[in-house]
Amino acid sequence: MTDLAALPVTTLKGVGEKFAQVLAKLHISSVQDLLFHLPLRYQDRTRVTPIAALTPGLDAVIEGEVRAADVVFGRRRSLLVRLQDGSGTLTLRFFHFSAAQKNRFARGTRLRCFGEARRGSAGLELVHPETEILGADTSPTEDTLTPIYPLTEGVSQARLRGLVQQALDMLSEGGVTELLPAGLLPHTMQYPLAGALRYLHSPPAGTDLAQLAEGQHPAQQRLALEELLAHHLSLLALRRDSDHIRAPALPGDAGLERDFLGRLPFSLTGAQQRVCAEIATDLAGSRPMMRLLQGDVGAGKTLVAAMAALRAIGSGTQVAVMAPTEILAEQHRRNFNGWLEPLGIRVAWLTGSLKAAERREQLGAIASGDAQLVVGTHALFQADVVFHHLGLVVIDEQHRFGVRQRLELREKGAGAAGSVRVQPHQLIMTATPIPRTLAMSAFADLDCSVIDELPPGRQPINTVAISNERRGEVVERVHNAVAQGRQAYWVCTLIEESETLQAQAAESTAEELAAALPSSRVALVHGRLKPDEKERVMSAFKAGEVDLLVATTVIEVGVDVPNASLMIIENPERLGLAQLHQLRGRVGRGSVASHCVLLYGTPLSRGGKARLQALRQHSDGFAIAEEDLRLRGPGEILGTRQTGEIQHRIADLQRDAHLLPQVQRIAASPDLPQSLRQQLVARWLQNKPRFAEA
Ligand code: ADP
Ligand code: MG
Repeated sequence: MTDLAALPVTTLKGVGEKFAQVLAKLHISSVQDLLFHLPLRYQDRTRVTPIAALTPGLDAVIEGEVRAADVVFGRRRSLLVRLQDGSGTLTLRFFHFSAAQKNRFARGTRLRCFGEARRGSAGLELVHPETEILGADTSPTEDTLTPIYPLTEGVSQARLRGLVQQALDMLSEGGVTELLPAGLLPHTMQYPLAGALRYLHSPPAGTDLAQLAEGQHPAQQRLALEELLAHHLSLLALRRDSDHIRAPALPGDAGLERDFLGRLPFSLTGAQQRVCAEIATDLAGSRPMMRLLQGDVGAGKTLVAAMAALRAIGSGTQVAVMAPTEILAEQHRRNFNGWLEPLGIRVAWLTGSLKAAERREQLGAIASGDAQLVVGTHALFQADVVFHHLGLVVIDEQHRFGVRQRLELREKGAGAAGSVRVQPHQLIMTATPIPRTLAMSAFADLDCSVIDELPPGRQPINTVAISNERRGEVVERVHNAVAQGRQAYWVCTLIEESETLQAQAAESTAEELAAALPSSRVALVHGRLKPDEKERVMSAFKAGEVDLLVATTVIEVGVDVPNASLMIIENPERLGLAQLHQLRGRVGRGSVASHCVLLYGTPLSRGGKARLQALRQHSDGFAIAEEDLRLRGPGEILGTRQTGEIQHRIADLQRDAHLLPQVQRIAASPDLPQSLRQQLVARWLQNKPRFAEA
């Protein structure tokens, strides 16, 4: 019996060093890794479906005889092939085709096609199906479902399937170790590991495709449980690592805090008080705080951060506050300055766009400890920034940074006191509420506080969706709001990542609106502006010197202008729910009723419609997050898409949330020895970095 975990992929036929490097990009280095590289989905090419029995939306193999093939000139030139079997007829539609291809479809030719049936103008059709001319030598249909694997450049489905087949042949000789003691597995999942892998790589003909697609097959559930467990164990290990790390105990200075609260024009909400107390308890201890602070947009997280900062400063340590964008960093600088300067605290400022001389000065103030608080963007964590005695790191809007940075930041400001590692406390704030199921698994290494109450007097935001065809009415609405002394945002979205294109789109919109609203003061802010220009525009808007602010999504997070009560979001269908909720949260901050207009382009896709609907229905960020999770999956919410980390191989946090209690039970069991824990993590997380947990 060979342990396939110890066999490099190069032992397989056809895998040399070079191809092994390609496979490494898929995190496949051993034969076992290959077996744990599970299909994303399946195609059923095991049987031929009669045309009359086709279901729209499903892939199918059909066989039939060509009755006609015509090129038609509609909106797009296309080749339509009518195909008939005993049960009915359907259309094959091709938009790209050569003369030779057209000639293949001579009347009377028998074809086998594979593709997804859709409803077309003239009944069911297959768009760009795979086609094969049926002849005497055509092979029969497949014996097993066809797996579709996640790929990377340089590997094809066919080649990967061939390799997996070789690996499966070796599996018969034994090979993968059962790491989960049978006694710990629920009764419904007593499925041998090797059997589960074999099944999932080649499900036999007749397998219920819908059950597989939903991940409900016992073989899938068995593996999903093991995978979730491995991720959970890796986080627990991370957490345990930090048990040996110390942080400075920050008892605070009660007088300073009283002074601060006394100067505020309002008092803390109950939720803010509760969360401040939770944080204070953490900070007073010498175990590094790692706390996630969740609160809906406008819940008042910044103030809670300021209270935490005061506690650190009152204990003689320094505080770093990091924001994801310059605009937001600038706003924090202004807030913290306004709050802390009267208390004799100096606030330093560090972003990527500082001029050399100023940067030097700020760096000096940070290194000497003259500045007790530093606000900045990720520029704060560059190598040449030396902190004086960093006691607390506050990270705002963590979803913009992703899981990777969170862990990198832990290292920053770390040092040693004798043989003990020392790290600052960490407070991570997010206005993108994380559904409980996700938080439990993806953030198992963080404690969590929730501000579940908005400051008093907030007006609900009335959200409407209006088609772009009625743009004129929307412009009229802006006109009316401005006439009543209100301010408005007009947000332009573009799918393109390019800041230049986004800026151009916003620029032309601003021109159009300025022309349509001659009596309004229109200004423009986008990512291409120089930081001081951005700042000037934002201050003018804050000061009420600008009526309508046309912006790209750079204003997404955190910007706070209470007199702004109207938000227009152009092409909202292009954005995710969380981002839309964030944008909308820019209004409804004052005491007047606020409105959000979702100015969508037509036609609206099904997904787009669902998102806009959800946004109109819900005002609570948590409800929206649950909806977002349902519509888009966990990767989007946790921001792993941006960092390109591979997600779960088989588990799906939303779908498999019911497994999490089992996962926690098994992880807590003394019957799972340390060595098996390590092997489980190694098997599922492989050479991925330890923080690939999301
Ligand atoms: P977010 O949680 O979205 O970061 P902010 O911290 O920006 O919210 O707070 C939003 C607004 O609410 C700010 O203008 C802030 O001054 C105000 N605010 C915060 N706490 C309170 C409170 N307890 N009572 C009244 N207003 C508050
Ligand atoms: Mg904020």
